[in-house]
Amino acid sequence: MKLDLLAIAAHPDDVELTCGGTLIKMSERGYRTGILDLTAGEMGTRGTPEIRAKEAAASAKILGVSWRRTLGVPDSDVQANRQHKTKLAAVVRELRPRTVILPYWQARHPDHYHASQLGYEGCFLAGLKHLPIQGEPHRPFKIIYSTAYADARPTFVVDITQEYQRRRRAILCYRSQFRPVRGEKKSRVYLPIDRLEDDMNQLARHYGQMIGVEYGEPFLIREMMRVDDILNMEVRSI
Ligand SMILES: [Zn+2]
Repeated sequence: MKLDLLAIAAHPDDVELTCGGTLIKMSERGYRTGILDLTAGEMGTRGTPEIRAKEAAASAKILGVSWRRTLGVPDSDVQANRQHKTKLAAVVRELRPRTVILPYWQARHPDHYHASQLGYEGCFLAGLKHLPIQGEPHRPFKIIYSTAYADARPTFVVDITQEYQRRRRAILCYRSQFRPVRGEKKSRVYLPIDRLEDDMNQLARHYGQMIGVEYGEPFLIREMMRVDDILNMEVRSI
């Protein structure tokens, strides 16, 4: 299968939380979108990998993605090693995405920043002609980093006002992650997901405000953006 857009992240639900609205928006525009979860999230404090797989499949339907798979990297041990990189490169060759979304390269959770590096290096390797893996060499044209939970100033924000409620439904598919089972002991570990609904609303509103809309999702690119007509630039200055 060929994709226009592939989002890569460490755990099932990472993509929903960071760029779910953008995935919905792009699939509504007729682009073929997909998600590669590097791990099955088997180290998550709540739920089981089986439950998370079901939740991820339900969410994928809501997001409108045509492809979702788990790469099989062990949860809590995401590393940009040769084995994982070539595995990821094979997926990139198979799907041939034009654009890839990766997590920002600095994060609290080591899996998240390693996922960023593994994603970038896997995409790079996929273009090497002599790499001993199947498929025609392919390198995505564009790599964009999602900065939703990162301490980084985004380069641009995607307006997800229309997609916000649908994204919310996709995120809420991961019930096992933030609805403690009755009788479950209160965890002593801080789970950011406990404050999920408030956080995701606040964040999306914050980034939306930056571009003068209700809800937004932030991204960063390393290269410069080109502008041809400075009289047709969006977002008001004063
Ligand atoms: Zn994660």
